Amino acid sequence: MPREFSLKDTRNIGIMAHIDAGKTTTTERILYYTGVNHKIGETHDGASTMDWMAQEQERGITITSAATTCHWKGCRINIIDTPGHVDFTVEVERSLRVLDGAVTVLDAKAGVEPQTETVWRQATEYGVPRIVFVNKMDATGADFIMSCNTILERLGAKSCPIQLPIGAESSFTGIVDIIERKAEIYKNDLGTEIEVTEIPEDIVDLAEEYRMKLLEYLADYDEDFMMQVLEGEEPSVEEIKRVLRIAVCAGDFFPVLCGSAYKNKGVQMVLDAVVDYLPSPLDIPAIKGTTLTGEPDERHASDEEPFSALAFKIATDPFVGKLSFFRVYSGTATSGSYVLNSNKDKRERFGRIVQMHANARKEISEVYAGDIAAAVGLKNTTTGDTLCDEKSPIILESMEFPEPVIELSLEPKTKADQDKMGLALAKLAEEDPTFKTYTNEETGQTIIAGVGELHLDIIVDRLRREFKVEAVVGQPQVAYRETIRTEAECEGKYIRQSGGRGQYGHVWIKFEPNEGKGFEFVDAIVGGSVPREYIKPTQE
Ligand code: GDP
Repeated sequence: MPREFSLKDTRNIGIMAHIDAGKTTTTERILYYTGVNHKIGETHDGASTMDWMAQEQERGITITSAATTCHWKGCRINIIDTPGHVDFTVEVERSLRVLDGAVTVLDAKAGVEPQTETVWRQATEYGVPRIVFVNKMDATGADFIMSCNTILERLGAKSCPIQLPIGAESSFTGIVDIIERKAEIYKNDLGTEIEVTEIPEDIVDLAEEYRMKLLEYLADYDEDFMMQVLEGEEPSVEEIKRVLRIAVCAGDFFPVLCGSAYKNKGVQMVLDAVVDYLPSPLDIPAIKGTTLTGEPDERHASDEEPFSALAFKIATDPFVGKLSFFRVYSGTATSGSYVLNSNKDKRERFGRIVQMHANARKEISEVYAGDIAAAVGLKNTTTGDTLCDEKSPIILESMEFPEPVIELSLEPKTKADQDKMGLALAKLAEEDPTFKTYTNEETGQTIIAGVGELHLDIIVDRLRREFKVEAVVGQPQVAYRETIRTEAECEGKYIRQSGGRGQYGHVWIKFEPNEGKGFEFVDAIVGGSVPREYIKPTQE
């Protein structure tokens, strides 16, 4: 089967935001307008399509990083879901690793929020080009210009509005397109009936002011364009869009759009901007990697190069079982063929390949450079592994996963739960590279370790819901007590008090010899790294 969409017409994007800014609502509206989702559901009523798991819907947060494919104006857009909660920044990182561009959603009432800063910083680290969507223009307190200013002040990012809202709060009725010098007025609740008009008189000047500012910014990215601007010539709309695309793809200029996902205003224009300005796989640098002998190597986005792909998410699907989501960087592969997992040095068979749409799984027979899809039944592949052509092996640059910082103990309620629990935890650890589980040999307790409280909360929730395992959660028992052998050894030194790593890390305690009467407690440090005067004690 030939390629359906050219590489140039492929977008792999993420939607990133502070929790509650409207990422899920925006994603859902995108799926609605791109025609694959026929019902607009309310996120917090649990009808959202991107939120897979029941508990996500209950909590109203998005945890998984599934990819959904949709189409807009001749482009295939793969949306890689990025979670908004701070405990899942590692999930954000792994999404960032495989996407080429992103839409950052801001809440027009708040502008840039703390988690916006976190995900923005991560996106900058990975060099991900972005456009900004100031959402909730209909909400009380919405302020577009304030929100734009926070981008400059809190993120220090070079940005400029390319739209202006017409009205705000309950009188938000339309959007001005600064580049095309026109206005869109929304006539119905679904945002499908749009009247295109002149820019309302009261904001013409403001629109022109920002247009001039935009042209000045863009002048930095193209010499001909700069000459035009300097000579006072009026660049054409096509020219502005061409240079804006260059600026956005360069990753250091961020156009700002506005709207209300909830009230169905402005989402189609966000889709237009994704197509017009965010990079295709051809616009990003070649992916770096190494050969099996450690020599540097790289792969370009081309069907002609040998196949290479990165597994970025392992998920359990209720219908087909284990799904390994992967991003193809180069080459093609067909279902039924064998590829090499170069990290594990194992052959894997691409039994079935599926692409996830909002409300359907579509089985596909071939994947091409730039595609995102999921393979069913890969046995040895975990997140971060490279899948490649057996004849031209490469290990692609992968991602780093943080070590767990918090531990809890789990006690199964019944004997029957014990075995089920072991299997379930192993499965969860396979899906999630930041989740660890082990048995403390001295206390016999099952310990689970993760990157934050909510992370472990969700693990326990999933145990109960998906695996029907009931377990009592507690703080790990201290595994051993430590003693010091001689006074001389002890003097001025700290010893480690807690055996397990609890919420606060270790506790370091300092004792001084007390004139033949044993030891006297003099100081304690909670958490932190190993103190300089640390002495490794013997164990009882
Ligand atoms: P997420 O946490 O970023 O995924 O945010 P959600 O999409 O779940 O939205 C959070 C809340 O804001 C929900 O109650 C939405 O109904 C509401 N919301 C989302 N978009 C808008 C909007 O454009 N206007 C208003 N007024 N509320 C919105």
